[in-house]
Amino acid sequence: MARVFAVVNQKGGVGKTTTAVNLASAFAASERSTLLVDLDPQANATSAFAGYTAARHVYDAIIGRCVMKEVVQPTELAYLHLVPSGRDLYGAEIELVSAFSRERRIERGLADLRDAYDLVLIDCPPSLGLLTINALTAADSVIIPLQCEYYALEGLAGLLETVDLVRDQLNPSLALEGILLTMEDKRNNLCRQVEREVRAHFGDRVFRTAIPRNVRLSEAPSHGKPVILYDIHSKGAVSYLRLAEELLARTGLERSAAAPLLPGVPPPGAPPAASAEAEPGEGAAGGPAPTEEIRALDVTAPMPGGEDE
Ligand code: ATP
Ligand code: MG
Repeated sequence: MARVFAVVNQKGGVGKTTTAVNLASAFAASERSTLLVDLDPQANATSAFAGYTAARHVYDAIIGRCVMKEVVQPTELAYLHLVPSGRDLYGAEIELVSAFSRERRIERGLADLRDAYDLVLIDCPPSLGLLTINALTAADSVIIPLQCEYYALEGLAGLLETVDLVRDQLNPSLALEGILLTMEDKRNNLCRQVEREVRAHFGDRVFRTAIPRNVRLSEAPSHGKPVILYDIHSKGAVSYLRLAEELLARTGLERSAAAPLLPGVPPPGAPPAASAEAEPGEGAAGGPAPTEEIRALDVTAPMPGGEDE
C-alpha cells in the first residue's frame, strides 16, 4: 500500500509544486514507484513535465467521468507516473458543493491505485478549499513547505487547525509528516532568524533538510524536467535527494519489488516504451531512472557551492 503525502500550504508561491515534483522525482530515482497527483487547477506540476496536454485529467476522475487509473500518465522517469491537472479543475469546487461525499473524491480515486505504488504525492492549490480538503482526506500525512521569510508563519495556525479538523471529522490517521524550509538563503540574516525560530518552535517536526534558494530549481520547469534530469549536481537536486532519503528513513519505507501493472501505463521500471495515449513527441516514454548517476552522488557530502541566487 502506498504511503500518501499531501503537500499543503494555503500561502501561494512557497514551493509546494517545486517540492511535490522534485521530491516525487527523487523517490522515483531511488526506484520507489511513485505517483504524483496534480490537484491544482494552475497545473504547474503537470507543466513541469514536458508535453502534457492530456485530453482527460484529474477533474474528469473527480467528477466521475472516468476512474483515476484512466488519467495516469507515464513520465520521462521510469518509476514516476503523473495524474495531470488542467483548468477545468477550477470549476470542481463549485460543482461539487452539493455532491455526495464531495470530500472523498480523491481518496476513492486513489483507492484502487494505492497497491500499485510505494509513494503518492499530492500537489495542492494555494487555498484551504475543497480540493485541499480532498487531499487531506486521502493522505496519510502532510508536508508543509514554509518559505524562509518574514511572513512565513502567517497562516500556519489556520493550516494546522484545518489539519486537526480533517483528522477529527474525515481522516483519523492523518499525521503531520513535517515542515519543510524552502528557498533558504544562509547569507540572509532574516532567513537564518526565521529558520532558528521555526526550528525552536516546532522542533523535530521540521525536516533536517532545508531546500536552498537555487536557480536551477526555478529553471527546470521551463525545460519540462524535474531538477534531477536538468542538473543533477545542482544544490537544488541534491537537497531534494537528501529530503527523499530523510523521509524514507523516517517512515521506514522498504524498497519494494516492481509494482503491479496498470493497464495502459508502462509499469514503473519498464524499458522505454511509447504510451498508447501519448501524442507524438509528447515526451511520455518511460526512460530509465538516472540511478547510476545518483548512486555516484554523495548526498551526505557538503553542498556544492557557487550557484545560489
Ligand atoms: P502556488 O501556491 O502558486 O501553487 P507553490 O507553493 O507551488 O505556488 P512553487 O510554484 O513551487 O510554489 O514556487 C514558486 C516560485 O518559486 C516558482 O517560480 C519556483 O520556480 C520558485 N522556487 C520554488 N522553490 C525554489 C527554490 N528553492 N529556489 C529558487 N526558486 C524556487
Ligand atoms: Mg503550486
